[in-house]
Amino acid sequence: MLKNQILKQYFGYDTFREGQAEMIDSILNGRDVLGIMPTGAGKSLCFQVPALVFSGITLVVSPLISLMRDQVQALVANGIPAAFINSTLSSAQTAKAIDNARNNKYKIIYAAPERLDLPEFLEFLQRSDISMVTVDEAHCVSQWGQNFRPSYLKIRDVIEKLPKRPVISAFTATATSEVKEDIIRLLSLSEPGVLITGFNRENLSFEVKKPADKYRTVITYLKENPDKSGIIYCSTRKTVEEVCSRLIGDGFNATRYHAGLTEEERTRNQDDFLYDRKAVMVATNAFGMGIDKSNVAFVIHYNMPKNLESYYQEAGRAGRDGTPAECILLYGGQDVITNQLLIDSANDRDEMEPKMLELVKEKERERLKKMTYYCHTSDCLREYILKYFGERTVGFCGNCSNCNDNFEKTDITEQAQMILSCIARLKERFGIKMVIDTLRGSKSEKVLKLGLDKIKTYGIMSGVPEKRIRDIIHYLVLQEYLLLTNSEFPVVKLAARSKEVLQDNAKLSMKMPRENEAGNSLAKAAERRRKAYGNSSSDSRIESRKTAEDPGLMKKLKELRLKIA
Ligand code: ADP
Ligand code: MG
Repeated sequence: MLKNQILKQYFGYDTFREGQAEMIDSILNGRDVLGIMPTGAGKSLCFQVPALVFSGITLVVSPLISLMRDQVQALVANGIPAAFINSTLSSAQTAKAIDNARNNKYKIIYAAPERLDLPEFLEFLQRSDISMVTVDEAHCVSQWGQNFRPSYLKIRDVIEKLPKRPVISAFTATATSEVKEDIIRLLSLSEPGVLITGFNRENLSFEVKKPADKYRTVITYLKENPDKSGIIYCSTRKTVEEVCSRLIGDGFNATRYHAGLTEEERTRNQDDFLYDRKAVMVATNAFGMGIDKSNVAFVIHYNMPKNLESYYQEAGRAGRDGTPAECILLYGGQDVITNQLLIDSANDRDEMEPKMLELVKEKERERLKKMTYYCHTSDCLREYILKYFGERTVGFCGNCSNCNDNFEKTDITEQAQMILSCIARLKERFGIKMVIDTLRGSKSEKVLKLGLDKIKTYGIMSGVPEKRIRDIIHYLVLQEYLLLTNSEFPVVKLAARSKEVLQDNAKLSMKMPRENEAGNSLAKAAERRRKAYGNSSSDSRIESRKTAEDPGLMKKLKELRLKIA
């Protein structure tokens, strides 16, 4: 059966999502794969569909015991024979499952990694036709990963004991480059097809604040956004209690969630939030697993989490409906210390040997460092996150606190009109420099000799710094409102899209590096007030001179420009 037929018949979907078809094709071609796709992207289908095509059995190793049952139930409900083997089964149930498996009753078998040791199970695997081994949550194999599970290291041994080497497919939602390399090495993936998809969440904006008073910052935000629903994550139960009761005391519609509450209260509070009876959920990271509330408009971190995996996962609960949502991290120096303590004191993990435990802790400290850098970088926050997860980036996003502080979105409609009409009046005969000189009313010999001071647009941008005009022209070329000839002395010409600006009055805006950000708060404030630049000529001239005199600032501006390009 074709993969599209299987998709429709067994899962009831019409189309594959981003990356799914590629993963499935690779697997069906017998190639190992590593799929790094965010939570909710649909990784399960990537191995479930090929499992139905293969003649033999697919073994799925998963660490999430609670989810295993759900997944298997869903498969069975769709008419796919499946079972799971983990510690929730009694030994009689386990024996029964293995017995059924021997009699070829299952197409897909989920197993917890610890169960791979079980002699009967191992024996079954060795005697069966195993077409594929899938490792879900594959980051667990790496000490660099978020939830390292030593038993994941056994997977490779089991595969080696199989009579025929199966296809190996591995999936995870978070893999830094170290984790990626570990997965490939520790699972012995052979020339795997690696696919990383869609970590960027366009509708989320990112912000880091370092407030003196975190609580004040929170209530200011809540007052400014009275109708929004959101989550406030705190690092400890105690902080949850404090923040929540203060919020309620101050008249906000808040509730709380952490592992110290009774199950009854947790369910009640969670439902209150899910069904919009309470607008604000104050919670520890215990809240959110498997929760899919679409209209979470903000996620505020009252404390910095211990790594970017946690941060992005929690922040990512905002804006599931695709509408703009805010992710705000309130950083305080104490957060680093608290996390360090948490890492140092966690000693009871998965029966880990002391040496291994020390290694794991070292890597956790390393990841805490990267989380901390996030709070201190002046680069684009989105880029920082995406880079961490190994995704290619565009340099700056224009939708995070760093981009917004260092860049601004500027309306350039009028300037673009002036530039284009100047080029038209110059009969498209000159290069960028002459266009700028004409616009700025230069009295250079060349301009005067050519009589350019007689044309109508001469001097209409006299107050605008040369660099700004040049930036706009470059942008217009990039967006194909203008074109540059490919000659030794490139000439600027009108392009097909020029009409949109000159006749249709298209609104244009571009992101520009803020100027005068060298710590001069007065100049900064003036710059912000003057949203559309160039309308205050004397100011602009002073600014451009200042810029030219300050090599540090020049360098910074150059870097910023490079980022745009
Ligand atoms: P992941 O493991 O990547 O977090 P899941 O495999 O659990 O994600 O899938 C998340 C949800 O997306 C599930 O409800 C699944 O049924 C749904 N889904 C997956 N693929 C598709 C598809 N092609 N079309 C529609 N829904 C899909
Ligand atoms: Mg999954």
